[in-house]
Amino acid sequence: MGVRFDDVTLPEAVERAMALLEDYGGYVVTPNSEIVYACRGTEGLADVLGAAALTLPDGIGVVYASKILGRPLKGKVAGIDFAAGLMERMAESGKKLFLLGAKPGVAEKAAEKLREKYPGLCICGTHDGYFKEDAPVVEEINASGADVVFVCLGAPKQEFWMAAHREELRGKLLVGLGGSLDVFAGLVQRAPETFRKLGLEWFYRLLREPSRFGRMLRLPLFLLWVIAARIKGEDQMPEKPRKETRPKKRRRRRSGALGAPLYVIFVLSVSLVLAFLSWRGICDVFALDKEYTTAVVTVEKDESMGEIASMLKDEGIIRHRWLFRLYASVSGARDKITAGAYELNTDMDYHAIVTSMGEKSSTRQTIMVTIPEGYTMEQIFRLLDSKGVCDYDNLMETAAEHDYNFSFLKDLPLGDATRLEGYLFPDTYEFYLGEQALYAINRMLVNFDAKVTDDMREKAVDIAGSVHNLVIIASMIEKETDGEDQQNIASVIYNRLNNPTSETAGFLQIDATLYYVTGRLVTQEDYETVDSPYNTYLYKGLPAGPISNPGMASIYAALNPASTKYYYYALDKEGTHHFFKTYAEHSAFVASLGNG
Ligand code: UDP
Repeated sequence: MGVRFDDVTLPEAVERAMALLEDYGGYVVTPNSEIVYACRGTEGLADVLGAAALTLPDGIGVVYASKILGRPLKGKVAGIDFAAGLMERMAESGKKLFLLGAKPGVAEKAAEKLREKYPGLCICGTHDGYFKEDAPVVEEINASGADVVFVCLGAPKQEFWMAAHREELRGKLLVGLGGSLDVFAGLVQRAPETFRKLGLEWFYRLLREPSRFGRMLRLPLFLLWVIAARIKGEDQMPEKPRKETRPKKRRRRRSGALGAPLYVIFVLSVSLVLAFLSWRGICDVFALDKEYTTAVVTVEKDESMGEIASMLKDEGIIRHRWLFRLYASVSGARDKITAGAYELNTDMDYHAIVTSMGEKSSTRQTIMVTIPEGYTMEQIFRLLDSKGVCDYDNLMETAAEHDYNFSFLKDLPLGDATRLEGYLFPDTYEFYLGEQALYAINRMLVNFDAKVTDDMREKAVDIAGSVHNLVIIASMIEKETDGEDQQNIASVIYNRLNNPTSETAGFLQIDATLYYVTGRLVTQEDYETVDSPYNTYLYKGLPAGPISNPGMASIYAALNPASTKYYYYALDKEGTHHFFKTYAEHSAFVASLGNG
């Protein structure tokens, strides 16, 4: 393949690097199959790799290739593991390290973490990998007194960079390490141990970064290329000639006349089966060959990833439940999925399916719900339940227990859902289907908070004693009338409250407050028998709390009552309110209605 690898184990590689440090330095490359394959189309790359002091096989593809070619390498030596081994030795021997590469700030962060991980490790400088001029960077490295430089500019840029500057950086050991600084800085996760052991690190990366799919297609191409070379008898991937060569006996045994073809046939057949299965899986992961269909999928709050995957399979959005679960566990998908209803389709790949079920997803289904003025909390929650926004019990529980941070709620104790009565501002809202109770309620409270301004709140304290009292008064006005006489009704309420020595003796005598607790038509008998703090015939002053959620007109009337001497009102047959100063006037009017 034009690239000669050093056939070393990880500890041997670290030993060699330490020896090079004592000697003349040089640079270390860690090509994977993608880079080896890239040598075919990238001028000068093979020469640059060939001039390295140490060439480590960083990829399972390279190791397979060496086996196919009958010159098996001892195994994979991942660049990042090599770097770890080297840093351990450097920490012991006091050698200095310079970190070069990655986005601004990453190398510093990596340095911080590495100092913690390898106590005694001296990191003498850092520089990001996005510089225009090489010379100042080379100068900075030389000035830092570094013994080792981790060059993390991505392949093959870093290989060309090291080859170009090895003379100016003579005596130092340069190590090309791709995206390792991102890993050291904790910005990118390495594949879990199991994936590494199975040689599936590349698959893990693919799952995390599906955009690498194009690059990874080169892995099977590489293997095919190697097999072709083997069949043609181009045994081109030997280890570099070293002084301490391996006993010939062992090598002959491995590349026996029968063994190699059998091995190739075996690898080919397994590859074909795997390729077929992988292709089916890849088609599912990347939504390549599915017939178009859409489905609305509803995710509940505590649903497990297994349940979500089953639902997606049942709806025909995915084919392989297990594969989706694997993808989900690797990509941490469950945390990205929010309860709700979403419209999904088979054009979506796994990544898109997960992001489409996120909180801000545009495929999340919404519904417009109008909450009429004067609805009670009970009515509002039943309405939201019937529209599929939230479950009634969840809403009740959240209303009772969640400590919303609004000043108007701070004196209302938790434990009873009615604490929110009066503050669920009636309006038209666009809710998500399957929205969390917490957010749905919050929307109405935020609206109240925005609509009832600071000036209004100050005035409420002046006129009613507190915002809560004002909301109670507004909630009664809301229930008593929807006409233009709200300010007159307000004046009756205030006149009765503020003049307890008058004829009405401080009783509000409003039927709607009784209806709030009985939920049925109020009778004369109820006035005396219903023992409730909402019975304004039995108890003086305001009822225990708001009896509905008032709209802005009622709140306005409660803030701006008409200036009257009225203490009574009654409806005529046309549904118009008439107002009176005395009980006698009121009675006469009611009697006249009866006669008429
Ligand atoms: N990078 C850089 N300078 C560049 C281009 C890339 O420092 O001009 C960094 C990039 O920020 C990332 C690393 O090089 O940290 C490349 O990571 P990737 O995983 O793509 O490299 P690979 O290991 O696949 O070569």
